Amino acid sequence: LFITLEGPDGSGKSTIANLLGEYFKKLGTNYTITREPGGTQIGEKIRDIIVDNKNSAMGAETEALLFAASRAQHVHEKILPSLEEGKVVVCDRFLFSSLAYQGIGRGLGVERVKMINEFGLRGIKPDLIIFFDCNPTLTIIRKTKSGGDRLELLGNEFHQRVYEGYKEIIKMYPENVEIIDAKKPIKEVYEDVVKLIDTLLKE
Ligand code: C5P
Repeated sequence: LFITLEGPDGSGKSTIANLLGEYFKKLGTNYTITREPGGTQIGEKIRDIIVDNKNSAMGAETEALLFAASRAQHVHEKILPSLEEGKVVVCDRFLFSSLAYQGIGRGLGVERVKMINEFGLRGIKPDLIIFFDCNPTLTIIRKTKSGGDRLELLGNEFHQRVYEGYKEIIKMYPENVEIIDAKKPIKEVYEDVVKLIDTLLKE
């Protein structure tokens, strides 16, 4: 089972990913919790190149290709092997992040970004995409106050575009997408997520 968590910065995806690890442990289910950009040694290096403050000169196309490269390595080294071992794989961000951030946020176009990513996906598709629905305005202000990275410092307008972009992408590719209200307290968000996953595990 391949589950991805999607949504704007600060919508609680990473917190939930960690909690899910504990949940699967208790259930005795074999699992892999991973994240993008990153997830492998090569991927983490690529992540550093992208999020580094000093790389503000990076072009949008370069950024999209680096994210796609990081994802290709992630699929090759971690996601596919884990799925082949029968594990439940939870990935904090996946293809939809690129479609929203680079395709719409950066204006490269959803179809074009999808195309460069497909090269490295080897045909895998999430069984469940959980969209954390939460307007980024407040969370961005909170993050940048504590000193954000290059991408977090892009500003409200960018993140608003990404958020609206996500909603467009969900309309374009609604398959296996579930939307949860991520404005709720984390405990309730967690319960909603667990409900979705339990349904899938029982199928
Ligand atoms: O999810 P996380 O906070 O770890 O992502 C790191 C940074 O990369 C964030 O600032 C996020 O906005 C950005 N990002 C991006 N394009 C993606 C994925 C993440 O700009 N495809």
